[in-house]
Amino acid sequence: VSIRGVDSETIDAAASLLRRGGVVAFPTETVYGLGANALDALAVARIFEIKARPSFDPLIVHVSSDGMLHSVVEAVPEKAYDLIERFWPGPLTIVLPKADVIAGIVTAGLDTVAVRMPEHPVARAIIGEAGVPIAAPSANPFGYLSPTRAEHVRRMLDGRVDLIVDGGPTAHGVESTIVVLDPPTLLRYGAVPAEEIEEITGPLERNLLSDRAPLAPGSLAQHYAPQTPVRIVRDPGSVPYEERRRAGLLAFRRPVEGYAAVRVLSERGDLREAAAQLFGALHELEQLSLERIDAQLVPEARLGAAINDRLRRASVPREAQRVSNHEETR
Ligand code: AMP
Ligand code: MG
Repeated sequence: VSIRGVDSETIDAAASLLRRGGVVAFPTETVYGLGANALDALAVARIFEIKARPSFDPLIVHVSSDGMLHSVVEAVPEKAYDLIERFWPGPLTIVLPKADVIAGIVTAGLDTVAVRMPEHPVARAIIGEAGVPIAAPSANPFGYLSPTRAEHVRRMLDGRVDLIVDGGPTAHGVESTIVVLDPPTLLRYGAVPAEEIEEITGPLERNLLSDRAPLAPGSLAQHYAPQTPVRIVRDPGSVPYEERRRAGLLAFRRPVEGYAAVRVLSERGDLREAAAQLFGALHELEQLSLERIDAQLVPEARLGAAINDRLRRASVPREAQRVSNHEETR
């Protein structure tokens, strides 16, 4: 059997590496993940090392069956079932009380664990074959652009992971939406629009990870960022030509002349298409070594909230961030 070009030998190899404490990059429907056995603290520690991810930033645990879900949480509250029935398998992460088997390093010492059941057939096959829950953040260095193609993972992490499974470009292109129940609260905008969750939970409170004060010194407001500085522009047509010549433009629907390079997220103005193109377009613009990337925000509703969240955080200047970290530690 092969799943979208991934043969069963590759699935077996990935599963066997994971069982033996390895770290494997694999496709999910959101972005490429960097997975390790969530029951193996040493294996998970390698993820933090490879990503240079701060140890206070907990990981999402990926499961492939109801049985596996129940093995990683203490209980599944009634309200969680409504969300699970509607959105799993899929790009919704739910924060639940954690079972003891989950290594403390996975949850950064919290007594809750963030869980999701991915829909991508390759992710499901690998997790199912491994037979253990898989802790997996995005397969990129911490704070950097997320990977939506195996090629992105190769460029950023080649030689540092045990295997990269290439399942083609990811469908959604932005990370999962994260919610916690009691009261129903949105922690991160993502591939499931908040409006769709609210059809089930009623109005969600917002306690967004991206709005919180840094958890600790060194915690960065900047995230999802390419090496080229990103600037949000309302109207690229009013940027002086002199500046456009040395910059790239990430436009929503229409190109603007005068820029050194332009990527359009969706000519049709389709937010799903725009989300799927977002990180790939930023990876491409970054490769051109431009002075700056001007980015246009998209309409804020539905998936637009997830896209704009990534763009805003990508545009936090490194200077400002250094100043605030400095103040934090004084
Ligand atoms: P990433 O792995 O980069 O997609 O990020 C996962 C996000 O989930 C992080 O920003 C965490 O802060 C958040 N997260 C993971 N576990 C928990 C938890 N138990 N409670 C609240 N947030 C969590
Ligand atoms: Mg990430």
